[in-house]
Amino acid sequence: MTSSSTDTRLPGVATEQAIHVVESHSAANYSPLPVVVREGEEAWVWDVEGNRYLDMLAGYGALNFGHRHPALIAAAQEQLERLTLTSRAFHSDQLGVFCTELAELCGMDLVLPMNTGAEAVETALKMARKWGYQVKGIPEGRAKIIVAGGNFHGRTISVISFSDDAVARRGFGPYTPGFVSVSYGDAEQLEAAIDDDTAAVLIEPVQGEGGVVIPPAGYLATVRRLCTRHNILMLADEIQSGLGRTGTTFACDHEGVTPDAYILGKALGGGILPVSAVVSTREALGVFRPGEHGSTFGGNPLASAVGTAVVRLLKEGTYQERSAQLGTHLEALLRALPSEHVSAVRCRGLWAGVDVIGRVGRDVCMGLLRRGVLAKDTHGSTVRLAPPLVVKSAELQWAVEQLAAVLAADDRSDLPPEGISPSAVSPQWRS
Ligand SMILES: *Cc1c(COP(=O)(O)O)cnc(C)c1O
Repeated sequence: MTSSSTDTRLPGVATEQAIHVVESHSAANYSPLPVVVREGEEAWVWDVEGNRYLDMLAGYGALNFGHRHPALIAAAQEQLERLTLTSRAFHSDQLGVFCTELAELCGMDLVLPMNTGAEAVETALKMARKWGYQVKGIPEGRAKIIVAGGNFHGRTISVISFSDDAVARRGFGPYTPGFVSVSYGDAEQLEAAIDDDTAAVLIEPVQGEGGVVIPPAGYLATVRRLCTRHNILMLADEIQSGLGRTGTTFACDHEGVTPDAYILGKALGGGILPVSAVVSTREALGVFRPGEHGSTFGGNPLASAVGTAVVRLLKEGTYQERSAQLGTHLEALLRALPSEHVSAVRCRGLWAGVDVIGRVGRDVCMGLLRRGVLAKDTHGSTVRLAPPLVVKSAELQWAVEQLAAVLAADDRSDLPPEGISPSAVSPQWRS
């Protein structure tokens, strides 16, 4: 691998060609920054020109352990040499180990493995409805699930049915009924929405796509109390917030809260392959009988082997500690950014939302790209930072220096990179 000087990146022909090819034959459901990545190691990636970038997005948290963590690659390679898929028609020697160790990490009884995050959310919703009918005694067909405004739980039709993001919803109706939305962080409104047909509350302990929105102190604990009092399942979507991201194994840990189910994904696959799961009690996950739910690839031997290796990394507690300590450092660096450029900083562990003033988040991310930092905007004016937990203190400092430079008024690195044709620049960027 080569590395160049850390200043201005000059996108060249290889970048332009690769972007042209992908834009010719891939659906335009994303608007990527104009960088074509070829290699990665720890917190760094290299593009097809040989330029090096610090990855401050980490695959939206899927790369919590960095690119190609040796223990995870070894687990995958070892399993690749033996067996990759059985389907659930048969047992594999890997699934039991994975479920046992993941359940133990979560302090839960049972695991239902799936692949993507959205599938795990769907699984939790099906579990909650069935539990509502079978265990709680809600009349058939009436189960209600309470969700929070500003949520992001994935892209399936049922999941976007209770999103309030117009772009995610528009044109995809009719929508799945049975969901009630309340303001995120408002426990009183949540309690008012509860009735006899309420089966569950589905909540992100920190809203990631929403811009790293942290609820008011005590909110999660209150939600837990309300769920217990009204016999409702608390479903914590920890797909992005969990597995060390916030400085603890789960974001719920910050308030000493144990939900009735953890919904996990992203980092559970070690940045290697999609692995997701619902981890819950015997009372709740025990409602599923053979044939009622499943997935061809869910819990496959390769996914199980990698998932087990991820759980073992987390069992040591060192990544959570790193995240907490470096998170404090990151927060201090971000809070020192000039207030004329930054209106708010929200930070929990190695996870930050930075609201910029007078700039489009996308343009700031373009500027960061030119300076060798990969980050992604969300909700227009928020820059989200979620580096791999293996990032080093000096690297964080360097990344925030680049952000400061981009935010400085005379910095013009958000201008279109020279040599990039208009077709290589996504429509959203051009507007
Ligand atoms: C990413 C994410 C999902 C969806 O996961 P996919 O693997 O993209 O389907 C669901 N919930 C949260 C909180 C997420 O961050």
